Amino acid sequence: MKPKVYIAKPVPEPVITYISEHCDVRLWNSTEPIPQDVLYEEIASVDGVLLSHIDINESFLSTASNLKIVCNASVGYDNFDIEAMKKYNVLGTHTPGVLDDTVADLVFGLILTSARRLAELDRLVKDGNWEKGSDTPLFGRDVHHQTLGIIGLGRIGEKLVKRAKCGFDMNVLYYNRSRKPVVEETYDAKYTALDELLSQSDFVVLMTPLNPETEKMIGKREFHLMKPTAFFINGSRGGTVDEQALIDALQDGEIAGAGLDVFQQEPVDSNNPLLRMPNVVTLPHIGSATAQTRLDMAMLAAQNLVKGVTGEIPPNVVPELKQQRN
Ligand code: NAP
Repeated sequence: MKPKVYIAKPVPEPVITYISEHCDVRLWNSTEPIPQDVLYEEIASVDGVLLSHIDINESFLSTASNLKIVCNASVGYDNFDIEAMKKYNVLGTHTPGVLDDTVADLVFGLILTSARRLAELDRLVKDGNWEKGSDTPLFGRDVHHQTLGIIGLGRIGEKLVKRAKCGFDMNVLYYNRSRKPVVEETYDAKYTALDELLSQSDFVVLMTPLNPETEKMIGKREFHLMKPTAFFINGSRGGTVDEQALIDALQDGEIAGAGLDVFQQEPVDSNNPLLRMPNVVTLPHIGSATAQTRLDMAMLAAQNLVKGVTGEIPPNVVPELKQQRN
C-alpha cells in the first residue's frame, strides 16, 4: 500500500504527478487558505504533509496520529514548533537554495525602489500629477557606491553581496552569527558589530530567519543608531522587527524610508500606518514568487516528502530536527 500524503496548498501539476507515483495523494487545490477543520480532517491519518505558512503545533500534531514528516515549500520554518515536533517524533523539511537568486533579486528591487522612489513616482505619473518644470522634488538617492549593511548573511545574503559588489560597486558590511571568510575574501565584504553596521550603512537589509533569538532584533534602539538618510529593508519575516518601533522611527524622521516584503501581521491590516507613508514600499510577501522558483520549491518539498514517507532520509531536514528518526 502506498503511503498517504496531503498537499495543503495548490502546487504545479508536475509536482502532483511526481508525488502520485509514490504516494496516495489528496490535495487542497483552491487559492483560498484551507480552513482548519478541513485540514485537520484531511491530516488525521496521513503519513506526510506538504504545505507552507501553516502552524505545526501541538494541536496539529496531536490530530495527525500517523504523521512522519511535514514538508514546507519555503526556506523559512518559523511555522514549526520545534519542541512539539521533537515530542511527536515528526520530521520537518524546508527548501533551501532553490530560491536564493529570486529572493535576492526582489530584495535588491526593494533597495532600488526605496532609494529612487519608483513606486511613489509610478503613482504620481498614473495619477496625472507629472507637471512641467523642475524635477527637483522627484529626486531620489543613489544606490551605487553607497554602503549596504546585511544582517544575516546566509544563502540569500550572499547573493545580495554579489549583486551589490559586482553590479553596483557598493561597500558591503555584514553582521552574522558566524563569520563568512569566503564571502569576505571573494567580495571584500567586511564583518562588523551590529551597532557599527547600523550606524554606517545607507541601506540596512535584514535577512535572518525568525526564531526566538531574532524576534524583534531590530527595534527602537537599533533604528536610533541608523543614519537619518538610511533605508531599512526587510526581506526576512515581520517578526524580526518591532513594527511599532519602525513606524515611530519613520514618523520621527530617524530613518529615511523602508522597503518591506514582510509584516508582523499578514495580510497587513488596512489601518497599518505603514500603508500611508510615501517613503515606505510595501510588498505582499513575494520574495520567492516567480513561476519557475515556486515550481522548484514545490518539487524540492515533494522530493523531501516522498523520501520521508518511504523510509529514506530527506535531503532538507531543518537543522534543529536532524537528530529525529526517519
Ligand atoms: P540561511 O542561509 O540560514 O541564512 C540566515 C543567516 O542568518 C545565517 O547566515 C545565520 O547565521 C544568520 N543568523 C541566524 N540567527 C542569527 C542571529 N541571531 N544573529 C545574526 N545572524 C543570525 O537562510 P536563507 O536561505 O538565506 O533565508 C533567510 C531567511 O529569509 C529565511 O529564514 C526566511 O525567513 C527569509 N525568507 C524570506 C522570503 C520572502 O519571501 N520574503 C523568501 C525566502 C526567505 P549562521 O550562518 O551562523 O547560521
